[in-house]
Amino acid sequence: MANNIQAIRGMHDVLPEQTPLWQYAEKIIRDVLNSYGYSEIRLPIVEKTELFKRSIGEVTDIVEKEMYTFEDRNGDSLTLRPEGTAGCLRACLEHGLLHGQVHRLWYYGPMYRHERPQKGRYRQFIQLGVETYGMSGADIDAELILLMDRLWKKLGIRNKVRLQLNSLGTIAERLVYRENLVNYFQEHLTQLDEDSVRRLHTNPLRILDTKNPAMKEVVANAPELMAYLGADSLRHFKTITTILDDLGIAYDINTRLVRGLDYYSKTVFEWVTDELGSQGTVCAGGRYDGLIEQLGGKPNHAVGFAMGMERLLALMENLDTIKLAKPVDIYMIRVGEAAEQVGLRFAETIRNEIPGLKLQISVDGGSFKSQFKKADKSGADYALILGDDEVSRSEIGVKALRDGQGQQTLSQQDTIAFLQSYWFAR
Ligand code: ATP
Ligand code: MG
Repeated sequence: MANNIQAIRGMHDVLPEQTPLWQYAEKIIRDVLNSYGYSEIRLPIVEKTELFKRSIGEVTDIVEKEMYTFEDRNGDSLTLRPEGTAGCLRACLEHGLLHGQVHRLWYYGPMYRHERPQKGRYRQFIQLGVETYGMSGADIDAELILLMDRLWKKLGIRNKVRLQLNSLGTIAERLVYRENLVNYFQEHLTQLDEDSVRRLHTNPLRILDTKNPAMKEVVANAPELMAYLGADSLRHFKTITTILDDLGIAYDINTRLVRGLDYYSKTVFEWVTDELGSQGTVCAGGRYDGLIEQLGGKPNHAVGFAMGMERLLALMENLDTIKLAKPVDIYMIRVGEAAEQVGLRFAETIRNEIPGLKLQISVDGGSFKSQFKKADKSGADYALILGDDEVSRSEIGVKALRDGQGQQTLSQQDTIAFLQSYWFAR
């Protein structure tokens, strides 16, 4: 039909054949976060527009051109969240969670940005956000990096990503740097693009963040922020690199890494890959102590990061581990009324005996041949076969679908033992 309604550009369905991979990654993410003692927080998808303007900053790509902002029926300006840091902090301030307390939090869900859709860049995308509050020591900056490193290993993509690290110093240090940076860019004004000229006085550090290849050289020769850092900022940075060196986690110091957002201080980092073209940043974060005051709280400390799930999954697409994520392990073929009854009951017994095993039964009949086709298509490793013959002898046919082990006939009890050893040997 020509007039079927379609999804909004840049907003994608995750179809059943893809959800096992999502669930597989989500489970590992949860397990890793739990192993560091992080708690989940669940936040609204819509917030007051003002929240994002105040936290992200007016002169950013996000606030200038990417937000989905609308008026609700009361005339209030609301925005679909483009990121989670602002909402998470809003919630913690609103509920008084930051009074003399320390928090390690995470959230997971869709974010919305009106960008040009392309591979790895969507208008609705899923982020894992991790935020910590109340800790000033560099140990917590390092902990977040260790957590990510562990996550990459568990997901099987450690060799595909590398860590880029920088320090932005304090606001005071950055102000001095900023002045020198503006002077430098003014001397090279002709090499700047339109966006950068506009930002020269509103937010010159962002010019370093440009994706315009024509500006590569002028950015490469700009003064480096690292040279403007004071003793405390340098010590903080040094503590992190010492921990990473100790634990054998490689990193590149990238003095051009400034991140898109205003609120960072001291540590900033990104995990990048070469495998996703220009959408190569999988995860990004840093310290943003200043934001809490900016949103009306008392001076405090915050470090966090956000990871894009679509980019992460794109890196995992061809991995062996994905075998574990398939939806069906065992498919039960039932031919004839008696077999349907016995099989249904036996399937329940198997599920009781082997929690976790993914067992799917055939429904709506069909010949052995057509049911075998469905078994094959399900991706299962084994088919359990029940026809009149098997039922009359209280037996089950067990057939390997993936390798040529052939078929055997077992009692119900032996079938369960067989499936148990299959399940534990995976
Ligand atoms: P980029 O430089 O790629 O635009 P960003 O600096 O805007 O990224 P952040 O706001 O730091 O990104 O978001 C953290 C992560 O969320 C990114 O590293 C990326 O993995 C993911 N992400 C951001 N925007 C998108 C998008 N439009 N589509 C898919 N993933 C995204
Ligand atoms: Mg962006």
